Amino acid sequence: MEEFILQNEKPIRMGFFFGVLLIMALWEIAAPRRKLTASKTLRWTNNIGLVFFNSFVIRILFPAAAVGVAISAKEHGYGLFNTYDVSPFIAIVASVVIMDFVIYVQHVMVHAIPVLWRLHRVHHADPDYDVTTGARFHPLEIILSMLIKFATILLLGPPVVAVILFEVILNVTAMFNHGNVGLPPALDRVLRWVLVTPDMHRVHHSVEDDEANSNFGFSLPWWDRLFGTYRDQPRGGHEGMTIGIHKYHDAKDVCWITGILTLPFRGEISEYAINRRQWGGDDEEQNE
Ligand SMILES: [Zn+2]
Ligand SMILES: [Zn+2]
Repeated sequence: MEEFILQNEKPIRMGFFFGVLLIMALWEIAAPRRKLTASKTLRWTNNIGLVFFNSFVIRILFPAAAVGVAISAKEHGYGLFNTYDVSPFIAIVASVVIMDFVIYVQHVMVHAIPVLWRLHRVHHADPDYDVTTGARFHPLEIILSMLIKFATILLLGPPVVAVILFEVILNVTAMFNHGNVGLPPALDRVLRWVLVTPDMHRVHHSVEDDEANSNFGFSLPWWDRLFGTYRDQPRGGHEGMTIGIHKYHDAKDVCWITGILTLPFRGEISEYAINRRQWGGDDEEQNE
């Protein structure tokens, strides 16, 4: 099994990406959770265009990618699991869980630090929430994520197969939980004990800053529950809530790739940074 994954890494990744994209796209057409507010053709063209642009940038900057770093860590004996003899099963499961935790911490951090929030705003500025939102990140944030991932791999020394599994799982869960779809409430309640569901992550895309500073998890929902950032539902309900960020709503700023790429460099940062997290909402002008 491990051998098979290592030898077929590319087709496995591509298969999951396009397979899940297709399933989610059809599901969104068949049973959309919310009415879209912007042109779907415009958003999809630009969001997917950004995904291709990002993969091109990453391939040029980091040709060896995370798997290359994991192989090199193994060869040099770097990291926890390359130093201590642990059963491969434990090492794989622990590595995937720990890498997911790092993503959670990173996500909280890009909300907390104003200059990083500038980059991460790109993910939140999407005026609608669907499968393409899940892959919509500014190239500088993707580069930052890669560097954090490389550092994690060097410290952790995860089995190479764990890195591939982690990346495929993250890719699949991000597409699933950004879906403009809903699950039956009873199923959603049970599932969100083990997996971030679309209704759970949608809360994080609310324009309301206290809601946007909740539900940071991408795959595992445990970190939000453990660290007190979990929020059950949006105040306005899933159909009534507003998706996006304050101030930027114009299609040329939030839908077109030119607006998306330049968004981090525009305006003052006064909103959302986690140190301004408000529970009362009495000084509303802070968010403007
Ligand atoms: Zn976020
Ligand atoms: Zn998101």
